[in-house]
Amino acid sequence: MSFSEAIARKRDGQPLGRDDIRTFVTGASRGDIPAEQLAAMLMAICCRGMTTEETAWLTRDMMRSGETWQLGASRPDVIDKHSTGGVGDTVSLVLAPLLASVGVPVAMMAGRGLGHSQGTIDKLESIPGFSCDHDRAGLDRLLDRVGAAIIAQTDDIAPADRTLYALRDITATVPSLPLIVGSIMSKKLALGASTLILDVKWGSGAFRATIAEAFELASALRRVARDSGVACEALITDMNQPLGTALGTANEVRAAREVLAGGGDDRLRDVTLRLCRQAMVLRGTDPDDAEARLESSLASGDALDSWDRMVEAHGGDPDPRRLPVPDRVREITAPTDGTVTGIAAASLGRIASAAGAGRRRRDDVLDFGGGITVHVRLGDRVEAGQPIASLELGERAVDDDDLVRRLTAAFEIGTGPWTSRDLVLGTVDEIDRTLVENH
Ligand code: URA
Repeated sequence: MSFSEAIARKRDGQPLGRDDIRTFVTGASRGDIPAEQLAAMLMAICCRGMTTEETAWLTRDMMRSGETWQLGASRPDVIDKHSTGGVGDTVSLVLAPLLASVGVPVAMMAGRGLGHSQGTIDKLESIPGFSCDHDRAGLDRLLDRVGAAIIAQTDDIAPADRTLYALRDITATVPSLPLIVGSIMSKKLALGASTLILDVKWGSGAFRATIAEAFELASALRRVARDSGVACEALITDMNQPLGTALGTANEVRAAREVLAGGGDDRLRDVTLRLCRQAMVLRGTDPDDAEARLESSLASGDALDSWDRMVEAHGGDPDPRRLPVPDRVREITAPTDGTVTGIAAASLGRIASAAGAGRRRRDDVLDFGGGITVHVRLGDRVEAGQPIASLELGERAVDDDDLVRRLTAAFEIGTGPWTSRDLVLGTVDEIDRTLVENH
């Protein structure tokens, strides 16, 4: 049967068969289905969706398109963490050394940034000497030495995802739920940690705009993980404004160090602690005991020490004075008195990327000094002329005035009432169903 018949079936709303999905995924990884047909299938899936069974087949075939490391078989105590993406999301940089400092090993295979979201690997590579390129043996060495490893996705892990993700990016099919589940979980299952904690974001700076959409994604990700024998929990968290105050690369490393040193931004600290606690609970630790150990590590300096050792083990220089700094800084001020009623998080992410912290094309070189520091939060009262953000420009950033104009426009200063939202809505089981149904 030709692949175009499978495309037609999905276009007409029929489920794909086992062989259709196998053909689709091998066609993507080996290059024997033309990009036009892959793109047509992606759009058909995006419009028509997939059943739970189809999504499970897609994920498994994408995972098997490359190497599988089966980390859980030799290291059952290792935890993996994944965020569905947002801005000012510095959590991974804090979570890995913090959990390691309380004796919970962490291994993460993370990505570089594309679009409005800055990548964990880019942030770490802003540290002089830090290398994220490790094979399986390198990952084992990092875990043995410091119990915390953050490495870049290798070419041999889920190669079908690389082809399909690049096509999704240019065919407006990124938001499809089964495609997101297949993309994320194929990589998680290929690494193969036996415990996985997920941070599923909702809001204007996330892939899922509403609580209901985030809930649907969190449930689907957790189902695929659990069906594959992975202990998994998903927290749903707010991404209607940047999580931390720093957006970029080196500035996010500084923000992570501040939290690890026992201070830093409250929102970044709170989300990270909830995820760490939930990960420890998944492994059988009592929640109060988990919280006490994490707090004590932050207060005693153990967490910061763990960070320094993690950075050194990856070849990096832990001295924060060696981090890149901006070439120049422009202050953004409130145009009027009022309340901050909106912060266009995705737009801030794109501006931080244009300032040097991101790339438009995969081969663009980053300028690690570039980014944004936000000085206000939703609901804050401001006066005209008050600084609301600093635009940190890398050496190669151009058109500063345009970026200043865009950054100013990304903050809505209003007079109307503003309703606060919970930063962490809870796990899939804990979340208030009326929030899901009314959203
Ligand atoms: N992260 C991924 O790896 N894939 C997606 O599709 C979305 C977020």
